[in-house]
Amino acid sequence: NELPGTNFIHNIIKEDLKNNKNDSRVHTRFPPEPNGYLHIGHAKSICLNFGLAEIFDGLCNLRFDDTNPTKEEVEYVDSIMTDVKWLGFDWDDRLYYASGYFEQLYEYALDLIKAGKAYVCDLNAEQIREYRGTLTEPGKNSPYRDRSVKENLDLFQRMRAGEFSDGSRVLRAKIDMSSPNINMRDPVLYRIQRASHHRTGDKWCIYPMYDYAHPISDAIEGITHSICTLEFEDHRPLYDWVLDNVAVPCHPQQIEFARLNLGYTVMSKRKLRALVEQGIVNGWDDPRMPTISGLRRRGYTPEAIRDFCERIGVAKSNSFVDIAMLEHSIREDLNARAPRVMAVLRPLKVIIDNYPEGQVEMLEAENNAEHPEMGYRQVPFGRELYIEQDDFMEDPPKKFFRLAPGREVRLKHAYIIKCERVVKDEQTGQILKLHCTYDPDTRSGMSSEKRKVKGTLHWVSAAHAVKAEVRIYDHLFLKENPEEDEDFIANLNPRSEEILTNCLVEPSLADVQPGNRYQFLRQGYFCVDQDTTAGQPVFNRIVSLKDTWAK
Ligand code: ATP
Ligand code: MG
Ligand code: MG
Repeated sequence: NELPGTNFIHNIIKEDLKNNKNDSRVHTRFPPEPNGYLHIGHAKSICLNFGLAEIFDGLCNLRFDDTNPTKEEVEYVDSIMTDVKWLGFDWDDRLYYASGYFEQLYEYALDLIKAGKAYVCDLNAEQIREYRGTLTEPGKNSPYRDRSVKENLDLFQRMRAGEFSDGSRVLRAKIDMSSPNINMRDPVLYRIQRASHHRTGDKWCIYPMYDYAHPISDAIEGITHSICTLEFEDHRPLYDWVLDNVAVPCHPQQIEFARLNLGYTVMSKRKLRALVEQGIVNGWDDPRMPTISGLRRRGYTPEAIRDFCERIGVAKSNSFVDIAMLEHSIREDLNARAPRVMAVLRPLKVIIDNYPEGQVEMLEAENNAEHPEMGYRQVPFGRELYIEQDDFMEDPPKKFFRLAPGREVRLKHAYIIKCERVVKDEQTGQILKLHCTYDPDTRSGMSSEKRKVKGTLHWVSAAHAVKAEVRIYDHLFLKENPEEDEDFIANLNPRSEEILTNCLVEPSLADVQPGNRYQFLRQGYFCVDQDTTAGQPVFNRIVSLKDTWAK
């Protein structure tokens, strides 16, 4: 078969195309409920649905599944559109709302009643649950199941007209109370709920249930393949029942795939909302959140997220994906693209005693050694510098190839220096500064640069460095599956955010713009945060250079 694609959904579609199953092009949809911000799991669904349209020269709709007025808000609608576009996908003029079909859904419900396939039931929620039975016990018919068509029509119309109180009546499908599939035991199609809807306002006081609205919305839009997650597999008979019993224009095929579960985080909107509402994180776009907006603020690129979604593939069984895989995708992307710069996160002063006071040298530094086309910049060097506190030990073990009394290191793009003397606070013993000497014949790139030393350190010039704030992030939770405990909040990582306020970065970073990404030499990839103000850059660490992941 010459058509591209390798997963089981591709194979189903290829077969359908071969058999001319649908008279139209492949048509998919991404159907979020606007009750929260999108997360990386949604990205998998977005890449899959829009990706199928791309591969098979089809179409993909964006449809808001907004049938639950109490939880949905315009803020979420807007953020979802922003996120889908940012990921690189476009629904063109195919933006729909399930609420746009409310009238049509109501008409179809009248048809079901007229055909004797739906009835108004006065049992309350608890009674409905009792009558429904269990996996091992069949359900019992509702005492209202045999109402006449006339009575049902009258009651349903009065439900819409607002004559009955919330929860006092529902419309149910008349299917089979002894079906082995509990979803088929006369499921509820409509409920009474007085709640203002973000699009229809107070026009409606009855709202359709997901299992009723979803298949019909798909059919109205001419969807050919309706892709959803595995937990809807048991709902497929109901999806098909609805489409078989109302006069819809086509019958889409529901296909289920495994949802993405990522380690050391939670992924349900309800739980993510709890983190936001309880102030555990600083909003939906907190860089620790697995939301698209959090990943974006952290510094993830859309390319890396799409690459990740490609790599994890599409399967039929649920599993956990190692977060190291997501980190691998962003490292690979930024390794090729991010300019290298020098930043000292925990500064320790170094004075080069034999370097002339007041002298400044501009050293040439490549922006990316593997990509010379990314060019060079000038980095100032002077008598007073800062190195990383971690890069010095007074009494180091043999294998410590950084700076120590009497030892030599290379300063990146500059010279070899030797530590001559340590100055400490007399009271606390804290190391205050190092006195060093440099070897003028060892400047990087000079023909006389022959001498080799084991360690190379990053540094900044004290007179030129720019003060910066750097935020270091770690996993939000301590457990791979924080949800395995009832109280998932108890599994929070208390050290998921560390804020360093005394960092010093090279002067080329004085005027960075939010969203710019860099590799800080030896430390990782960093992204300029939106909290940056003039002359006061704030950086988020996207990911460290090496995988520190404990497998
Ligand atoms: P949540 O529990 O996070 O609210 P949901 O499934 O209720 O998830 P929707 O807004 O209904 O959220 O999801 C829109 C689409 O994204 C659906 O088709 C859904 O199947 C898919 N989706 C949601 N979460 C995941 C996930 N973790 N992996 C893959 N697809 C997902
Ligand atoms: Mg849903
Ligand atoms: Mg949900």
